[in-house]
Amino acid sequence: SLLISQIAAGEVIERPASVVKELVENAIDAGAEHVEVRADAGGLKRIVVADDGCGIPKEELPLALKRHATSKIRSLLELENVRSLGFRGEALASIDSVSDLSIKSRTADSAVSWQIRGGEVQPAPGMPRGTRVEVDDLFYKTPVRRKFMRAESTETAHIVTQLERVALANPDVEFRFFSNGRETLHLPKASQADRILALMPKDFAGHCRAVEAREGGMRITGLVGLPTVSRTRGDAQYLFVNGRFIRDRVMSHAARAAYEDVLHNKAQPMYCLFLEIPPTEVDANVHPTKSEVRFRESGRVHKLIESAVERALAVSSAGIVDD
Ligand code: ADP
Ligand code: MG
Repeated sequence: SLLISQIAAGEVIERPASVVKELVENAIDAGAEHVEVRADAGGLKRIVVADDGCGIPKEELPLALKRHATSKIRSLLELENVRSLGFRGEALASIDSVSDLSIKSRTADSAVSWQIRGGEVQPAPGMPRGTRVEVDDLFYKTPVRRKFMRAESTETAHIVTQLERVALANPDVEFRFFSNGRETLHLPKASQADRILALMPKDFAGHCRAVEAREGGMRITGLVGLPTVSRTRGDAQYLFVNGRFIRDRVMSHAARAAYEDVLHNKAQPMYCLFLEIPPTEVDANVHPTKSEVRFRESGRVHKLIESAVERALAVSSAGIVDD
């Protein structure tokens, strides 16, 4: 029912930025190379996410809006091994229940593009291959939630934060963001390091070291900042597991421990770290927004990260390591 959808939506769709996160993740899952995001009035009036991914076949358009309809997993076994960002089949149904949503899409093998809106599928000429999701009047059906929204500029800032996280994990995808019609962020396709540098504080480039280590089936990569970086923003600690931004005590503790070991607590940690780990070693399904994980062997993860960050910081150069 609509009510149940709206209640469930509350878990995943907290604010305009949650819509952007879910739509951009869908674009990534669809194999997009270019993703364009538009937000008007902080996303409360309108959000558009357009991609050049695989598109949605006409007959699957109604399914895409059904709760628990996902094309990404077919069995519980697959759930164990899931690599895609989405797999619950809830996002579009949730967004649809709290907004006026339309999807236009065209697959590579279709000459015609189609649109779904209010349950009706119609031809929508003029689309290139890919998908364009438009979300109008978010929360107009749930005025209580709308009341809790902050100023437009705050909502826009949250959108940018979400976009930056997805962009860090997907440097081979180009992102553009338009706020009230004006382009405020453009990230061309880049290497992992260049994408990080594009989003970290300005002088991070000359004051960071590469992290790279493997152990068992795990691999950690990324950049860590030296204490000489001038801090232009408070939160420059990014952690990713299998391409997804997460918050995790084990990983952040390991990074902090490395800074304390090498720099004796002189520095506030600054890092962007990517852990690749076999999906069977991590449970990504502990939180509806998938922002938390549980490791099967957290001790091994901690050890890998602490030693890799220590090594990166220690190469750092004279004057920093005082032994
Ligand atoms: P999930 O991502 O968990 O599968 P969603 O509700 O986000 O659930 O999306 C439902 C389904 O709609 C997806 O499984 C996918 O098949 C399709 N879909 C959504 N967005 C896109 C997109 N941008 N490109 C191609 N297919 C999409
Ligand atoms: Mg999804």
